[in-house]
Amino acid sequence: MNTSISSRKPQVVAVKGNIVTVRLGPEPVRKNETAAILTGSRRLLAEVLRIRGAEADLQVLEDTTGIRVGDPVELSGELLSVSLGPGLLGRIFDGLQSPLAVLAAQHGFFLPRGVQVPALDPEHKWSFVPAVRAGDRLRPGEALGTVQEGRLRHTILVPVDVAQEVQVTWIQGGSFTVLDPVARIRTGRGEEMVRLSRRWPVRRSLTEPLLRSGRAERLFPEEPLTTTIRLVDTFFPIARGGTACIPGPFGAGKTVLQGLFARYAFADIVIVIACGERAGEVVEMIEDFGRMEDPQGGGSLMDRSIIICNTSSMPVAAREASIYTGLAIGEYYRLMGHQVLVLADSTSRWAQALRETSGNLEEIPGEEAYPAYLDAAIKEVYERAGQIRTAGGATGSLTLIGTVSPAGGNFEEPVTQSTLGTVKAFLGLSAERAYRRFYPAVDPLASWSRYRQQLAAHFDQALAPGWSDRVQRILSLLHAGDAVRRMMQVTGEEGVSPADFVLYHKALFVDMAYLQQDAFDAVDVSTAPARQKESFLFVCDLVERDYVFPGREEARAFFLRLTGLYRNLNYAAQGSPDAERLKREIEALVAAVG
Ligand code: ADP
Repeated sequence: MNTSISSRKPQVVAVKGNIVTVRLGPEPVRKNETAAILTGSRRLLAEVLRIRGAEADLQVLEDTTGIRVGDPVELSGELLSVSLGPGLLGRIFDGLQSPLAVLAAQHGFFLPRGVQVPALDPEHKWSFVPAVRAGDRLRPGEALGTVQEGRLRHTILVPVDVAQEVQVTWIQGGSFTVLDPVARIRTGRGEEMVRLSRRWPVRRSLTEPLLRSGRAERLFPEEPLTTTIRLVDTFFPIARGGTACIPGPFGAGKTVLQGLFARYAFADIVIVIACGERAGEVVEMIEDFGRMEDPQGGGSLMDRSIIICNTSSMPVAAREASIYTGLAIGEYYRLMGHQVLVLADSTSRWAQALRETSGNLEEIPGEEAYPAYLDAAIKEVYERAGQIRTAGGATGSLTLIGTVSPAGGNFEEPVTQSTLGTVKAFLGLSAERAYRRFYPAVDPLASWSRYRQQLAAHFDQALAPGWSDRVQRILSLLHAGDAVRRMMQVTGEEGVSPADFVLYHKALFVDMAYLQQDAFDAVDVSTAPARQKESFLFVCDLVERDYVFPGREEARAFFLRLTGLYRNLNYAAQGSPDAERLKREIEALVAAVG
């Protein structure tokens, strides 16, 4: 060891878990810069987390076994970055953007240590069509040209972090790889080549430089992200560019719900960040995405999806990075004016990775040993969502929906609490509803969405006048029905008035006929806005009538029959003879007692 100290090259002086302490050399070092730890013949990727005088703490983004004191370290000068360019769609990456399918072919499914594979295929040629000419003056974030990426128009933009105005000095159309230069621009820093792909530091917002210079603008969300899930769209809407969280105990239906969002939500691009899943679950999801037909324009769902996955067998630091990798890619497509949906599953495991690293750094712990900055870290993640007016004048959005998996379904724990303080919609899954097979098991009494008020004007105008008031009335009915249910548990049916008994059945009918939706039925799985409107107004009409029954048995029998007919209606294609017949049967049934 003594001999190497005199060499003044950075080298490992201590190892603790995924953290190595490195004695620095004379060259400058930056926080979040990457480095290679030379262990035997391998180069293990690491990231600088903390600099303390002549030493720095680095988190190793790969398995740390075998790293020894004295191992040489090479600093890269580059911050932990992702590659952005055409060819991201349809791909599966790990948290550090190594393409897993490529690795699978070469090395088995998961990333072997010390092997770096380019994120974007360096051979593939893309047809670039310039949108401007040499001599044109452009601003950061404006379009230089386009590439067709599958069904998506992929815009090549002037880099976001250059001076206020650039001049195009050369540009060429044709067939190019992501590494070929397609244009040259004169910036405040001199001449710069633009290629179809570029690198961007994952932990930095790609939108921020444009927002700061006023080139892009944050917009107030005014439209919903239609999910075609009735319970969500009608009662707990999520704005386009908004944030939501889905906490829920194991088995309550998080995975099914995320799958439904991925497939049916009105988004151009879906990015799934699968964080800390078991390998088997990830393989299953990937196969599902490949198999599932895309309801928007055919093809497979995978054609407009990107999956970032880290299984629990992958290193903890890579898991921590994966959420930023997913967000950076999402922001990239948003800058082109696309509607991006990012599903992060689960943010609890991401937070656990933060906790583990913080513990190894011996930072002062906060609640339940999570770092004291947990709340700030969660806010920073969700702040990257939003709707923006792009430099080119289009409207792009990034909607972020995160699941939280609190141990034992305890929503009081720090990750759930911080997330609830950050997001604007909360879809709480209930073990009890799942147990009763009331799917989606989102609890209508506990969930909330601040977007319901924010989007009220939109709904009243786009769906029906007074829509928002109706939604509020039906929610009140659900609460009132639940109060009667709890009362009946104590007193029995006889303990409540006949009117309350009917009220209870009305609430149950709303639940069975409208809130519940069968993910395994080809028709019911997805309800388009027009049908939701028709159905909700019909349900309102049915429960806002006065019914008089001779006795409780008759009331029960009526609602049982009504529920049965309505569920069959949900299974019938809209406008089909079956649907029309069922509607007439329902009308006749209610006319008989109304
Ligand atoms: P989690 O991810 O929360 O552990 P899953 O999403 O895997 O739970 O759901 C568990 C099971 O519940 C599913 O296999 C399915 O049988 C059932 N389920 C969940 N959601 C629905 C739904 N919307 N419609 C029908 N069945 C559902």
